[in-house]
Amino acid sequence: MSQEAPRRPGLMSLEDALSRLLGAAEPLPGQEELSTLEADGRVLAQDIRSALDVPGFDNSSMDGYAVNSAEVAAAAAAGQALPVSQRIPAGHFGPVLQPGSVARIFTGAPVPEGADAVQMQEEAEVQPDGSVRLLQAPIPGQFIRRRGEDIRQGEVVLKAGTRLGPAELGLAASLGLAALPVRTRPRVALFSTGDELVMPGEVAPQDMAPGAIYNSNRYFLAVLLRRLGCEVSDLGIVPDRRDATLAALQQAAASHDLIVTSGGVSVGEEDHVKPAVQQLGGRDLWQIAIKPGKPFAQGWIAREGDTGRCHFVGLPGNPVSSFVTFLLLVRPLLLRLQGITGGQGVESRSGADGLPPALALPAHFDWPRADRRREFLRVRRNAAGGLDLFPNQSSGVLTSVAWCDGLVDLPAGQTVARGDRVNFHPLAALLG
Ligand code: AMP
Ligand code: MG
Repeated sequence: MSQEAPRRPGLMSLEDALSRLLGAAEPLPGQEELSTLEADGRVLAQDIRSALDVPGFDNSSMDGYAVNSAEVAAAAAAGQALPVSQRIPAGHFGPVLQPGSVARIFTGAPVPEGADAVQMQEEAEVQPDGSVRLLQAPIPGQFIRRRGEDIRQGEVVLKAGTRLGPAELGLAASLGLAALPVRTRPRVALFSTGDELVMPGEVAPQDMAPGAIYNSNRYFLAVLLRRLGCEVSDLGIVPDRRDATLAALQQAAASHDLIVTSGGVSVGEEDHVKPAVQQLGGRDLWQIAIKPGKPFAQGWIAREGDTGRCHFVGLPGNPVSSFVTFLLLVRPLLLRLQGITGGQGVESRSGADGLPPALALPAHFDWPRADRRREFLRVRRNAAGGLDLFPNQSSGVLTSVAWCDGLVDLPAGQTVARGDRVNFHPLAALLG
């Protein structure tokens, strides 16, 4: 690999951009109570403590016989049968074990007082008179799940900031919780800019005017936002007039936590969103040292009547730049706004660049020309455990994103020779 070219002056590192972006964002305050069945994908707003021990009682992990191990050891060694004094199915509670006897017991049933082990039925032989011969001496404690061995009463089982999924919801239910306190979803308004844009469904492919293109960014941005837990208002294409842009942004700011736009952030580009955001609040335009996705705008819009600020981010218009910039910058911002922590958030597991830990995998391609910017290449894992490169890495080629299953994070100034280990980020890890 060749080494580090100096970064172009004026470009900001991804880490700096992210720390500025997150420095201007606090978790949103809203909470609501939701049925545990409805809380998939939501973020827990408070720590959940267990009100009980789990399991709640010592119980058998096998179908077999509950015994007092010391008492039956001699009988087992001598091949002597023992009487069965009671039968305990799951959900029933048996009396104290009678001395000199065994209790028939089933998986999940409470172990009776006086018993300290369970002999599984495969290690026992039922005699014609119904008594039981143990084929081995039981080891004290065997096949008993102890009270509280999974969870102790009062223990924090799920931390505030955890994104709830099937396992967390099942766990909450095992503690008897039918409802959970969750954060309200961030409300995000999505705008597209660009006179060339046409909405799919409005104009058929054969009727497209010269120079027109379909608005693809709207479709993936709305879905990316929803997958990250947002409630999305798709506000279409901003009318290309100053007054209309001001009115649309101000109205969106009143009822949303974040406004996301795509297009119109290139240097010197004439559009109405940038000056409008500036007028209604403030914004910065950054040139970030990443490829694809250099231009990025960040800012805020004041709400009327001192009710705080609405965050603003402006993504580049090129579809791949828009997609990648979203994953690198908007995703960590949304995790922060939702207060996601506990192994899932940017704060706990990710580096200063907001990315989860990468996998080091061998490149099955050459990348002979280094760039001065940090590059994010569209690649796919192959059956041999290596990475294949999509042949066209241009920032307008959305087929590369559809084809890939992850991104190679290539430091600025670096080339790749076939066989080099590179840092791979599975796309799936960045979509939630
Ligand atoms: P811009 O960032 O506005 O200079 O746009 C860069 C490129 O992305 C141009 O080729 C635009 O036509 C294209 N583009 C902008 N917005 C969209 C969009 N919503 N969907 C698809 N392509 C877009
Ligand atoms: Mg444009």
